[in-house]
Amino acid sequence: MKKGAILLLSGPSGAGKSTLIQGASDAIGDYYFSISTTTRKPRVGEKEGVDYFFVSKEDFEEDIKAGDFLEYATVHGNYYGTSLKPVRIALSQGKLVIFDIDVQGHRLVRAKMNAITTSAFITPSTLEALEQRLRARCTDNESVIVQRLQNAKSEIEAIDEYDFLIVNDALDQAVQEFIMVANVARLKQNSEDKAKFILEWFSKE
Ligand code: ADP
Ligand code: 5GP
Repeated sequence: MKKGAILLLSGPSGAGKSTLIQGASDAIGDYYFSISTTTRKPRVGEKEGVDYFFVSKEDFEEDIKAGDFLEYATVHGNYYGTSLKPVRIALSQGKLVIFDIDVQGHRLVRAKMNAITTSAFITPSTLEALEQRLRARCTDNESVIVQRLQNAKSEIEAIDEYDFLIVNDALDQAVQEFIMVANVARLKQNSEDKAKFILEWFSKE
């Protein structure tokens, strides 16, 4: 069976994760972006089934009970989770599966799927730049922005848990680095069956 690989991205809201995926999408070949489920309300311009699956708290808790999530976490007071089934299907098709999830989700995916996971933390180099981007995006009110900046401070402390850090100041350079990391994630997929490779090597002696 073909096996895929996971490219897991984290970073504060407004760091530019969606922008980087968009900027690199033509260069990184066939991939599946894991659409998360959330109890957060849609922002202006966000679409059901494209940005997220937007559900009620009750429905999310039903899905937790049913064991539907690969991982889930509470972020900024809302539930966010990754459904297992579509990820399994994409991996079995040999695809690169891209996650945009928080540091708690990263720990859970590492614990379950470390062998096929490559991760990158994405952030601008300063909190000021992050604040400017959140304000320029015009999608969040003041209290949400304050909460996101506060959360960013604690997320930054987890950078060391990631394989790569991409500093998204100059967009072009960050996109190039993102493409390299995506290629590395695919290479990791190919080196997964090391034990099988060794066996086959000696069987041909
Ligand atoms: P995230 O997906 O991490 O929440 P977005 O991709 O929505 O972040 O980016 C947040 C805002 O910052 C958007 O308005 C985007 O256009 C802008 N942005 C992204 N990267 C850069 C960059 N390198 N320089 C300046 N603005 C950027
Ligand atoms: P936003 O509300 O800005 O779309 O996302 C807020 C945070 O939730 C971001 O850090 C994002 O990476 C994280 N997030 C989005 N989807 C998931 C998910 O399925 N699981 C986890 N653990 N975090 C998620």
